[in-house]
Amino acid sequence: MNETKVEKKQEIGKTNFTKEVEEFIPSPHVSTDRYEIEATSGDLSLLSKYHYKFKEEYQATHVIRPGNTEELSKLMQKCYQYSMPVTLRAAGTSCYSASTPTKGGVIIDLRRMNNVHKIDKENMIVKCDAGIAWQKLIEELLDYGLAPKCYPTSYRASCVSGFVATSGKVGIGVLKNGIMKDVLRSVVFVKPDGSTETISRDSQGDLSLDDIIGSFGIFGAVAEVELEVTTLKTSMEMIGYSFNTFKMAIEFFRTLKNSDTNKPLFLSLSDKHFEKYAHWTYPSRAYFVYAVYSDNPNATSQSVSFAKESASKLDGLSVEEWYLKEKWRDIADTELNVGRWCENLVFQEYWVSDDRVEDFYDFYQEKTSRQRYRHAFYLMSGAKGGNRVKLFGLSDIKNSREFFGIKAVFNDITINNYENKDILYTLGVVNTFYFLRFNPEKAAYLLNLKNKLDPKDLVNSYRLVKAKMRTWRVGLLFWIAKRLYRTA
Ligand SMILES: Cc1cc2nc3c(=O)[nH]c(=O)nc-3n(C[C@H](O)[C@H](O)[C@H](O)COP(=O)(O)OP(=O)(O)OC[C@H]3O[C@@H](n4cnc5c(N)ncnc54)[C@H](O)[C@@H]3O)c2cc1C
Repeated sequence: MNETKVEKKQEIGKTNFTKEVEEFIPSPHVSTDRYEIEATSGDLSLLSKYHYKFKEEYQATHVIRPGNTEELSKLMQKCYQYSMPVTLRAAGTSCYSASTPTKGGVIIDLRRMNNVHKIDKENMIVKCDAGIAWQKLIEELLDYGLAPKCYPTSYRASCVSGFVATSGKVGIGVLKNGIMKDVLRSVVFVKPDGSTETISRDSQGDLSLDDIIGSFGIFGAVAEVELEVTTLKTSMEMIGYSFNTFKMAIEFFRTLKNSDTNKPLFLSLSDKHFEKYAHWTYPSRAYFVYAVYSDNPNATSQSVSFAKESASKLDGLSVEEWYLKEKWRDIADTELNVGRWCENLVFQEYWVSDDRVEDFYDFYQEKTSRQRYRHAFYLMSGAKGGNRVKLFGLSDIKNSREFFGIKAVFNDITINNYENKDILYTLGVVNTFYFLRFNPEKAAYLLNLKNKLDPKDLVNSYRLVKAKMRTWRVGLLFWIAKRLYRTA
């Protein structure tokens, strides 16, 4: 068959597909509008073309928004029948191209699936659609005096299913109440062929909840979730202390993290560069530790006293109250604000174990001390055991040497992190080649499962089990970038 005939056949197939989908999803939610496709095929980097070298086809042909599990199931079935690649997308805040197309096809935007089905106060459980935004869920639970146990600081935009499908290990509540793995009771799951299954902690099928958490959607779509919730606490206070040395700051951070009686709801450590870019220039010291306590008034005040006492032993200087109030109110914007200071923001997120944070920081210092770029360091506590460190490089769109130079520094830090048994926090599409190189056994396990559930490799391809980018190619690129950056 010649090329035009093939194209014509594909076009007819696409039209039939669209018509058939419109039979069960209202047509305004079955979009082939090119502006909508352009806007939805990217993530926070905005351009859908960004990271195109990691993908076969970076733009979708359809953006479809199912309104409930039944519509989602029928849609997945139709995509399977037409062999249409599928990209599952919630709010698109997780970056690294996690929720963008790699093989064109259909973007399934899950945000219309945003209903709460049941709030069970007696058993402290909520059942809801997976595409619900955390902010909406928080507000609905509020009326019952309840709150989610854990959620990301991006809660104003991001959805429940995004936190399930990424690792759900870091954010608000994780230290006090547990991570997603601890609080997820069950999911209604739609497999690549459209079949639906309820998977709970004791399910014995092909897929377990552990497989689904952090799966970046490669096995199919989470349609509904059942989550443990907690009671809304009656008091909340934020504390903040600044320190002259990283050693003192991390010691304070650890004291708060490891205290068994006074677990913070939120805990972070940042350097003064991050503080300046993310909030205001605060005329103080080099490092900042912030903690939020939320409990009954008595427990909260005990926690605040404990923090104050611990800080004074380590020469911590208290941050003023007005600043703390703004900081907590704006926590959802904190990381985004850094992007306002430059044209091209580069960042990488590392999962660093509690006992390796200082070594990680020393290596980072060694790497950045020889560079001229503007940088920032932000560490958010996970549950006991690990933390997410986010490194920022502020670059200029016109200075590609600097841009690739920063990427090369991050690459060195990434390799060092993996060699020390730590990992990257968010993999998405872009970081998958690191995962394949450093976690071959886990990758082989996931690939086996993927082949079983999605033999046509249609759903969220090029994540976790397969990468288009080759390690040697990146190595060569960064080797050249480092040399060019030094001579720039
Ligand atoms: C300012 C800011 C703060 C952040 N804070 C945190 C934080 O505290 N902790 C943290 O862990 N991350 C954080 N992140 C990263 C990101 O916000 C989280 O990972 C968030 O949970 C992603 O949710 P989302 O709805 O945007 O998901 P998306 O980005 O749309 O999707 C994430 C991944 O999940 C898959 N997916 C989405 N929905 C489904 C589904 N229903 N079924 C199967 N797969 C699905 C997607 O395909 C993609 O691979 C932050 C990001 C920003 C910009």
